Amino acid sequence: MVRVLFLGGLGRSGTTLLERLLGELPGVCPLGEVVHLWERDIAGDERCACGKRFSDCDFWHAVGEKAFGGWHHVDVWRVLALRHAVERTRYIPRLASVRMTAAQRLLVEEYADWYSRLYEAAAAVSGADVLVDSSKHAALAYCLRFAPDIDLRVVHMVRDSRGVAYSWTKKVSRPEADGAAEMTRYSPSRSALLWNAHNTALSMLHRCGVPVKRVRYEELLEEPEETLRDLAGFAGLPATDVPFLSDGTAELGPCHSAAGNPMRFKVGPVPLRRDDAWRTALPVRQRRVVSALTAPLLSAYGYRGER
Ligand SMILES: [Zn+2]
Repeated sequence: MVRVLFLGGLGRSGTTLLERLLGELPGVCPLGEVVHLWERDIAGDERCACGKRFSDCDFWHAVGEKAFGGWHHVDVWRVLALRHAVERTRYIPRLASVRMTAAQRLLVEEYADWYSRLYEAAAAVSGADVLVDSSKHAALAYCLRFAPDIDLRVVHMVRDSRGVAYSWTKKVSRPEADGAAEMTRYSPSRSALLWNAHNTALSMLHRCGVPVKRVRYEELLEEPEETLRDLAGFAGLPATDVPFLSDGTAELGPCHSAAGNPMRFKVGPVPLRRDDAWRTALPVRQRRVVSALTAPLLSAYGYRGER
């Protein structure tokens, strides 16, 4: 069994930061957003967090050899077709139930098996006890539970919906693409609806027997040591010190996170500060729209609504 800590949540909720912090714990290897590795790295040869192109990175080269006898043996378009067929947010009710047809189940198992083989190789190459996959997508977490070789544990990362909405309106470039490419942007109402969908799905995952631990972005930044120790326990790691954290700063080392937020390229001291810019920068009207659309879950997660 390969132990995988899957970071779930809507994008811009702090999953990349959490992955980087977890990656500093002994016995943990952060892989990045594996969901995007197939297309962006195997097919697109984008940059690994170590700075090298995916095809030039020794770590990923070794993983590809061990898992598949080389990345050229991976049928990327088959993986993407499977993803399209099974890993959609709207298929989650089906993935959560026992009412799946035999044909549907075969597709989900085949899809999950690609991840299983990659994880097993990454565990062997890195020697790590726990891998972190920060793919975020709730539907992928539901698919991975069908892989018998994966000891899946999910961290459900939640951030105030208004902070998430503001972040989705900002321009962020994608340095790994070496071009003028930017990350996707969403309107506040669209991100509010996505926030509801992803968080609802992750909140119900434990009903399928998958261990799920919820972490609030705001708590992670207020009490990083305590949160990380707690998560290390959840991941089955021995109690450990967190010497890379001191005085509100994290000292981050290099890693081979394959795809995801540009924050994965940062090495060195990173200040751990809550990004609360939305409180002044998100226009009042948009803030009210997001608050209204996400009110039930906001309150369930302990956030204050609009007064
Ligand atoms: Zn690398």
